[in-house]
This record gives sequence, C-alpha cells and structure tokens, in this order.
Amino acid sequence: MRIRVGNAIRQTGEPFSFTASELFAPQTYGERSVTFAEPVTVNGTYTYDGKAFTVSAKAEAPISTTCARCTKPFIERVDFSFSERFVKGEDEATDDETYSYSGDELLLDKAVLDNLFLELPIASICREDCKGLCPVCGADRNVTQCDCITNEAMGES
Ligand SMILES: [Zn+2]
Ligand SMILES: [Zn+2]
Repeated sequence: MRIRVGNAIRQTGEPFSFTASELFAPQTYGERSVTFAEPVTVNGTYTYDGKAFTVSAKAEAPISTTCARCTKPFIERVDFSFSERFVKGEDEATDDETYSYSGDELLLDKAVLDNLFLELPIASICREDCKGLCPVCGADRNVTQCDCITNEAMGES
C-alpha cells in the first residue's frame, strides 16, 4: 500500500487527504495468524513538516475469523485509527517510534499492520448474543435447543 506524497513536500504544513486499499497476504503475529477476507481500506491525511511526514488515518480491516463460542467462520471488521511519522532514510529500520521512506512515496504496509495488531480482539465473537455450542453434545445452540443438563448457570446470570 503506497501513497504518493510529492505534493506535500512543496507545501510544508499543509495536510493532503488520501484513500488507499489493498488485499494483504496473511500475517502472523506471534501465535496469532490473520487472514484478510477483503482489502484493508485506509482514509486519512499526510502532512510534511520539513523533515518528516505524519500520516493520520482511519482504517478498516475485514479479517476472516471463527467465533470463539460457536466456531462458525465469519468476517470481522476491525476498525482502528493511527498517527505515525515517516522519516527519510535508506536504513530499513529506524526506531520503534517512526517508519522510514525514500523517494516521494510512503509505504504504509508496516504502519497499518502494526496498528491492526494492537487492535486485534483477543477473541472474536460472531455476534454479541451468540449462544455458543453445547458443552455436552456440541450442538450449535443458536440453531438447536438440546436437552442437555449443563451447570453454566453457576457463573452466568
Ligand atoms: Zn458464534
Ligand atoms: Zn446438548
């Protein structure tokens, strides 16, 4: 995901808006792997301050996941926003606070994916009131009502 930012270099301090979208390859974050169902979309602005670019944007990542309660696959839309600085440099790694760029393009992939990782829910639930699977017979209780006796009333209201 690249954005051309040459115009901002000539107008320091002026914010320029952009939109971008890209279907990313699956990502692995430690133990967690993320597969994208649709392109990630990013809307925001970039501003050049004479030394570095600041990109402030909102993003939406439609990820393919499975419900932690009923195990059904579904698409979860993870919304997040970020503001990151991009400093010119040939070195791939600068420090943890900034990203690097060269030429008149910013490569947003790493900033987008790093911020998505921070927003990833620990467990995905297909819907707020998902009833999950019966721990005894395994029936999906959103669609079937079984007669199994479970002691879940202990913890829940
Ligand atoms: Zn569910
Ligand atoms: Zn059951």
